[in-house]
Amino acid sequence: MANVTLKNVTKQFDDVVAVNEANLEIRDKEFLVLVGPSGCGKSTTLRMVAGLEEITSGEVEIGDKVVNDVPPKDRDIAMVFQNYALYPHMNVYDNMAFGLKLRKFPKKEIRQRVEEAAEILGIENLLERKPKQLSGGQRQRVALGRAIVREPKVFLMDEPLSNLDAKLRVQMRAELSKLHDRLQTTVIYVTHDQTEAMTMGDRIVVLKDGFIQQVDDPLTLYNEPVNMFVAGFIGSPAMNFLNCELKEEGSGLYLDGAESFKIKITEDIIEETPEIKDYIGKEVVFGIRPEDLHDASIKSDIEIIDENTIHAEVEVVEPMGSEIYLYLAHNDHSFIGRVDAESTADVGDNIKIGVDRSKMHVFDKETEKAIF
Ligand code: ATP
Repeated sequence: MANVTLKNVTKQFDDVVAVNEANLEIRDKEFLVLVGPSGCGKSTTLRMVAGLEEITSGEVEIGDKVVNDVPPKDRDIAMVFQNYALYPHMNVYDNMAFGLKLRKFPKKEIRQRVEEAAEILGIENLLERKPKQLSGGQRQRVALGRAIVREPKVFLMDEPLSNLDAKLRVQMRAELSKLHDRLQTTVIYVTHDQTEAMTMGDRIVVLKDGFIQQVDDPLTLYNEPVNMFVAGFIGSPAMNFLNCELKEEGSGLYLDGAESFKIKITEDIIEETPEIKDYIGKEVVFGIRPEDLHDASIKSDIEIIDENTIHAEVEVVEPMGSEIYLYLAHNDHSFIGRVDAESTADVGDNIKIGVDRSKMHVFDKETEKAIF
């Protein structure tokens, strides 16, 4: 079993706590992605699992064995870095075979493993070439091949695609996912790119300032972020955040954004989240993703009524082909709508925007935690 467990793992560098009391269970055969902005502790977490960084406190287990004092070479892991780290003077075959030769594997087995990995990665015809005769994508495949031949229990990957151009990155993303399906091995993958995280991860860990914010599958993370940081980090363009006040009028609760909007919270939501009533009379943050806003002048999936409408001026129009991004503003509020390509909204127009109320989020303004 190649499950990896972090128990209260902390890493301190002088006065910087890079990873703070991390608890995490990575399941056997899982593709787990660590994501977060620069400096949040992703690489340090990975390096502690690899044994390249000493652990200040806590325990790391691989396959139910505590490995804190096990040297990297004995951890049954293989790491793939962003700079590939290929030996320039060796051809592809020797680069891939190197680790096995060091470990004194029989020649025949080395050949068999290298050829098999080369076939999986589609680089059989490159085995005689030197790294400088390869493209970036091919080099990355060789780096992966070198890890695959070791047949490790766990693959650790630190931004392995970040040196590739955008198109190749998309292609390699899909290839890595296929590779994981084929190899059925545990993968821990570090990236700062939320799209990579969303498309590749079985589960995603969002980190900020050394603290784990949320661990969930991609859709849960997208639909049910636990706080404003996760809500804003996952999704592009980012979720809109609009300051407003929660007001009670009659028997209804409203998100009141002064002149700009007055959105009624549906009964379903109140029933599911009765604690929202604790916020009556208080400032809250209304969160809505750009795709959950609709140009009210065209037919949309939601019925447009006063209670789900925002009035706004169009500041910028960005046609994307299949849809249009509208940069909208009213008073102090600015937000983005991802509306249907049929929209004829133009810069300077005052338009009505319909809100899909089943997709709304409300956050506590002080703690930034999600209320719903
Ligand atoms: P990036 O995406 O930029 O690689 P990251 O999320 O991987 O960032 P880490 O490299 O894990 O972040 O760094 C976490 C924190 O620890 C940062 O504040 C960093 O400056 C600090 N740090 C990392 N390595 C060291 C070190 N060897 N000595 C001192 N501080 C370090």
